[in-house]
Amino acid sequence: MQLVRKETNTELLEGKRLKELEMNSDFVLCKFSDGSICKAGIVIGADGANSVVKRYVERETNTNENSCAAVRAYVEGVSGLQEGTNEFYYLKNYLPGYLWIFPLKDGAANIGFGMEMKKTKSVNLREMFLKIIQEEPIISSRFKNAKIVGEVKGFGLPMFSTKRKISAQRVLLCGDAASLIDPLMGHGIDKAFTSGYLAAKQIELCFKNNDFSMEYAALYDQSVYSAVGSELKRSKQLVQLINRSPFVINVFAKLAQNKRVFNWLVKVVKI
Ligand SMILES: Cc1cc2nc3c(=O)[nH]c(=O)nc-3n(C[C@H](O)[C@H](O)[C@H](O)COP(=O)(O)OP(=O)(O)OC[C@H]3O[C@@H](n4cnc5c(N)ncnc54)[C@H](O)[C@@H]3O)c2cc1C
Repeated sequence: MQLVRKETNTELLEGKRLKELEMNSDFVLCKFSDGSICKAGIVIGADGANSVVKRYVERETNTNENSCAAVRAYVEGVSGLQEGTNEFYYLKNYLPGYLWIFPLKDGAANIGFGMEMKKTKSVNLREMFLKIIQEEPIISSRFKNAKIVGEVKGFGLPMFSTKRKISAQRVLLCGDAASLIDPLMGHGIDKAFTSGYLAAKQIELCFKNNDFSMEYAALYDQSVYSAVGSELKRSKQLVQLINRSPFVINVFAKLAQNKRVFNWLVKVVKI
């Protein structure tokens, strides 16, 4: 934002929370929670996991999402962390969920547990997470001297599950709002950048051709999915395979001891 402010002649309205969008024939009316409004030729929904703009697109396109929920804690004193190595655990008693351990500085780690939302209705993710780090044999020994700092926080993780409408008339979705998080590795910053860049190109086209229709905006869906769709689909298929047959992880781990196979796997899985 600092760059935008410095390098361009853009008016930034900061500290505002979008509450609702209202479509008009030649603009979108954005209504904010402080009661103010603004008119926009086009709206880019880059408002994250609980996107107001996504809910609008879902209503307009009659789609809805089946995302992932997760809990996350910052933990100090975890043993066996390796700087630069992120760990993922698909534990057979806790499928279709996975635990992650991301090392931070000074022996601390960002540790979390996520699962598909439709499954989380019947489970308590926070309890499950604590049970794993306290009782699961291959994990718990590393938490003997560990301490959770702050709360165990819950949030939605809009993972990619299938190609969906990520645009509507005068509206485009980016990043988490477009559910572009990689379902295997949980990263979404890269896809947020890619979709943001492609959205900027689409806006340029919309204004140049004075076409803000849903059909024209669908070109954006195509460009996003041709850039990242096959990678996300492959990750989704791998997650499904792991959930169905968890032993494949052990097979991969064995095969990956061979350097050439390891390099091939890294290329295929794109980790
Ligand atoms: C615990 C955790 C760990 C993660 N670790 C990684 C990682 O290691 N690597 C990785 O690549 N990804 C990671 N991700 C995912 C990554 O954070 C997201 O995919 C990425 O931030 C998506 O960017 P975004 O711009 O779409 O959304 P966000 O970064 O969520 O930004 C959305 C913005 O919109 C604003 N906003 C929301 N609602 C409104 C509203 N109504 N009105 C106005 N503004 C609004 C928010 O304040 C926020 O500034 C992690 C996510 C979590 C939760």
